Amino acid sequence: MVYGYNGRLLEIDLSREKIWTRELEEDVLRNYIGGRGLAVYILMRELGERWRTLDPLGEENVLLFLTGPLTGYYPGVKLAVSGKSPQSNGIIGSVLSSEVAIELRAAGYDGVVVRGKARDPVYVYVEGENVEIRSAEHLWGLRGRETYEKLMREVWSELKRKHLAREGLTKEPSFVYIGPAGENLVRTAAVMAKLTHAAGYGGYGAVMGSKRLKALVVKGYGPMPQAKHPDWVKLLIREAWLRLNRNVTFKQWGTGAGGYSVGAVTSSEPVRNWQEEWHDRRSMGQQYFESHWVKRFWGDYGCPSTCMKISYLRSGSMKGSLTDTPDYELQAYMGPNLGVFEPRACIYLSAVADDLGLCGIQTGNLLGLVAELYEKGILSRDDLHGIEPRWGNAEAFAKLMEMVARREGIGRLMAEGSLRFALEVSRLKGVDATKYVVHSKGVGIGAHGVRSGKDYLPPFSYATSAQGGDHTSAPRKPFDSPWSELWMTFPDSAVICAFNAIDGLMFQFLEAITGFGVTREEWMNKHAKRILALQRIALLLSGPDLYWRPLQDDDLPPRFYEPLPSGPFKGKVVDKSDLEKARAEYFAFMGWDEYGIPTAATLESLGLDFAERLLDSIKIP
Ligand code: SF4
Repeated sequence: MVYGYNGRLLEIDLSREKIWTRELEEDVLRNYIGGRGLAVYILMRELGERWRTLDPLGEENVLLFLTGPLTGYYPGVKLAVSGKSPQSNGIIGSVLSSEVAIELRAAGYDGVVVRGKARDPVYVYVEGENVEIRSAEHLWGLRGRETYEKLMREVWSELKRKHLAREGLTKEPSFVYIGPAGENLVRTAAVMAKLTHAAGYGGYGAVMGSKRLKALVVKGYGPMPQAKHPDWVKLLIREAWLRLNRNVTFKQWGTGAGGYSVGAVTSSEPVRNWQEEWHDRRSMGQQYFESHWVKRFWGDYGCPSTCMKISYLRSGSMKGSLTDTPDYELQAYMGPNLGVFEPRACIYLSAVADDLGLCGIQTGNLLGLVAELYEKGILSRDDLHGIEPRWGNAEAFAKLMEMVARREGIGRLMAEGSLRFALEVSRLKGVDATKYVVHSKGVGIGAHGVRSGKDYLPPFSYATSAQGGDHTSAPRKPFDSPWSELWMTFPDSAVICAFNAIDGLMFQFLEAITGFGVTREEWMNKHAKRILALQRIALLLSGPDLYWRPLQDDDLPPRFYEPLPSGPFKGKVVDKSDLEKARAEYFAFMGWDEYGIPTAATLESLGLDFAERLLDSIKIP
């Protein structure tokens, strides 16, 4: 028995309609822990040899929903989702708040592996040992809110009927699902939970759609996997709650507190497709969103931080829009990045994205690009079916989102995400539209700019991240400091909320639960480097439609080499030689060569001998 785990994954092959369980070996758990780490291991072991030709939206891709040893013990709840990403063609460890994670642990599994492709739309129903592949014909085509309400009614009433007298059945089942965007294989589609939670980075909503999997429903009744030192765990939980409760500002305002200051003070917020990173529009302050909140302290299961605030529009033409806060990322991407400086319009656009099952960051990045191409006359009104995406025109952006989610008209091209869309526009129009795309490795960059030098990420971060533009997993200095890429592999693999991750304490949790004896230092030097070496290899293998070139593509988009045109840091720009220096230091620190390719010696020292043969397939231009 391995403490802290159920020791098995639920395997589902939708093509063959087969269900089985797979035991997890102790040394795999020790080396990769869970979540992102375990996903990377499974994917590279199984698919590494075929990676370059494997279509992320094809039947062969493997979709993973994983928990970690801290899930359910540590305050808050997250579920890790992964597979070959249709955005980066590498591996992204995407997380979302979902009680599916705890239900899975209580149902006796550490995660679910989905393979193949169903003939017709299905959802997977897990109730302890009872696992069924059920028809989802009645749910296919529904928007997010309709899906959530219909499926919840269906499964909750079924459970109540079956277990009327069961003691402890006090909580509804939990599920993750996709909206129309995922069904239509939109590369910016998210995996959704509740009405507003999303795992957006990676595009795994599209992978669910490619498997015709509408939802994963889970209910568990058993106890959590046993911890090695239960009394120590209790003490640690108390300590974590005390410390998290002290963060009064975060509790009260959530990440949306940055909505005004990231633009006005640090000048690092996307404004009009990153043409600027500064604005002084006080209307984007959190207090102007607050008047629309119908829930002001909403925390995920077992979380004292309550960073989520539910916004709802009660009147006007956007009446009925519901979203969480929006958090900072969506405030920025559905706000200033689209020239929107009015909270109601920002809430409305965020709610439309949620309801269609679109990632707000990737979609805001895409819409900003379209607006700039329209502004520059590269896209015409006719190209856009009469829609005029002028800055601030929320109705136009909402219409475009509908077209993207259903792949209608220009939406068919936009559904490929910013970079692939720009490549197609370049081909059709004979201009270089890719220079307006703010991405890294096909992943739209998070809403934290690097030109002013005042935000938390340095320029080399997005250029070298194994997860492309993902702001939650980007290198910074010191290389193992909190919120660095190395550090983030821990919350993503132990599967806890990064906002709650307390450096030091979280490693004590791992020890108290599993008894693995992994120190912080060992994590950074071995585990994190092991996970990132495999992710880096997957990213450089890439394919089958886009391949990343070492060094050449380990760079920032052209926009970040344009001087900031306004604000207190006007004129500031990224210095390419600084970036190259930091990039080389990072590669050396990781044990990678000058191209950022893990060396054979590094792989060997990390116990990754199996990955050595993959190095030959990485092309150095
Ligand atoms: S800190 Fe916020 S996002 Fe994280 S678990 Fe708590 S409520 Fe959820």
